Amino acid sequence: MPFSVKGTLLLKEDHRSLEKAAQIIKSGGLVAFPTETVYGLGAAANNAAAVARIYRAKGRPPDNPLIVHLSDCDQLKSVARNIPDKAFDLASCFWPGPLSIVLTRNEKIPALVSAGLPSVAVRMPDHQSALELIHLSGVPIAAPSANLSGRPSPTNYRHVLEDLTGRIEAVIKSTPCKVGVESTVLDLTREQPVILRPGGVSKEQLEKILGENILIAELEKQNGTPLSPGMKYRHYSPEARLILITGLASMRFTVIKILAAYYLKLGFKVGYLNTSLQGSLKCNASPEQLASTLYDSMRRMDQQGIDIILAEEISPAGLGLAVMNRLKKAATRILHVG
Ligand code: AMP
Ligand code: MG
Repeated sequence: MPFSVKGTLLLKEDHRSLEKAAQIIKSGGLVAFPTETVYGLGAAANNAAAVARIYRAKGRPPDNPLIVHLSDCDQLKSVARNIPDKAFDLASCFWPGPLSIVLTRNEKIPALVSAGLPSVAVRMPDHQSALELIHLSGVPIAAPSANLSGRPSPTNYRHVLEDLTGRIEAVIKSTPCKVGVESTVLDLTREQPVILRPGGVSKEQLEKILGENILIAELEKQNGTPLSPGMKYRHYSPEARLILITGLASMRFTVIKILAAYYLKLGFKVGYLNTSLQGSLKCNASPEQLASTLYDSMRRMDQQGIDIILAEEISPAGLGLAVMNRLKKAATRILHVG
């Protein structure tokens, strides 16, 4: 008998447990499952009532669309239509992997999955249990991150339990997510491909395959409206106030020390997220290491009752662009020095 807390089952990754999870999906339930990026909160993508439950369980704004997860490229045609060759080129290079492609939605997929948009985001996760769950469910799985809306995304099953115990039918217990930040969302429905959200696959990698320049939506707004609905929310945020220090590298170091001393004197508890200061856990960490520990660090600092988190800009190359995007979204203040 699997362990259960307040009606939420904690399932293992063996075949029998994944069959149980698939049964839950087939009968309209919600299952949180591991992927290589972050944990997803899944429901059958063709079941509008089940998809509606995702929004309710997360407290997700109704205008923020979900991503449809596949276990097989053949499922793509049941989710999207008028699929350009570029999508197949990218899928064959990066799937399974952290790339979500925005295409024209097939009417078989309820509009609610895409928050009413005519498009749909699709990806194939690079995680054995996720692929098996989708396969056993016999249907693509719609899944946003398995956190309460606005909280840092979950990168291990404990994060999911913190946020969603009693709100969903099951969680699959796995090892922590490898990448640690969400997938890259690339929109192929426009004249020129646009990255709506930087993530596990970099702009440089995508441009190499497509052989053309790709825009970044942070910089591209249409009439002041963001191109991706998710972009307008303050996301990925810890409860603590996060101050991001950007600008001249040699000055950032000094400013962080001054700010820390100032807030400590006022009686606040101060935490460092990714600074090069002595005593930091992540001194000289690579963007990959920072990405995989980012959300867990935010959640731990909240648990320790930290009031102010000081974080430092990192280079936006490769996965650094995704880390910087999440830090900017989480920040209550961005302090530019130099
Ligand atoms: P989450 O998996 O919780 O990070 O949420 C999915 C993200 O993908 C959100 O930021 C959405 O804005 C984005 N997204 C999903 N579908 C679409 C779409 N059809 N068009 C634009 N952005 C999308
Ligand atoms: Mg999310």
